[in-house]
Amino acid sequence: MEFNVAQLMKEAIGARREFALDDEITHLDAGLTPLSHLIGTLELLRIHSGILATGAFHITLELQCGRCLEPVTFPVPVHFAESFRPLTDVETGRFLLPEEFEGQVEDLTDEALLIDAQHILDISEVVRQNIWLSIPIVAGCAPIDQDACPHYRKLLSEFTLANEDGVRSPSEAAGIDPRWEALLALQDELPSN
Ligand SMILES: [Zn+2]
Repeated sequence: MEFNVAQLMKEAIGARREFALDDEITHLDAGLTPLSHLIGTLELLRIHSGILATGAFHITLELQCGRCLEPVTFPVPVHFAESFRPLTDVETGRFLLPEEFEGQVEDLTDEALLIDAQHILDISEVVRQNIWLSIPIVAGCAPIDQDACPHYRKLLSEFTLANEDGVRSPSEAAGIDPRWEALLALQDELPSN
């Protein structure tokens, strides 16, 4: 996901390039399990401080259901707009001083947003971060209604059936947590007043 932007950097503000991407990103992040390529478009726009990269992608990931812990297939949209700044002057090759930077201060310190001395703009880190931002906090077999997870429902009904067969202890049946059951005996030993 690297783009040589030397020519674009020499062009006037407003110049743009568009790329269609269909990239395999298995090695982008060990914590991600992609089931598809990253597919979409990237627009690179020459702005005063460097290049504004706007990405509109989608990818299918394998996530874990928050209810049953089974793997689930999840399509994830990945959208971003980030301004990249050049490390060097494209005409002279001279390293630019921080005070020469014309964009937002926060963009100045982010290494992921640097166009390197060979004029390569790399969107890998931006893509990686935005995939994580797009993943739901709790994924599930049934994303709209977590309780509709079929595995969870099956477990729930098996649990209910087991209870109907009298598997529960008498105190559980009475709504008492078995872990605290031993305390009941102490209750009887307390002096009554
Ligand atoms: Zn599930």
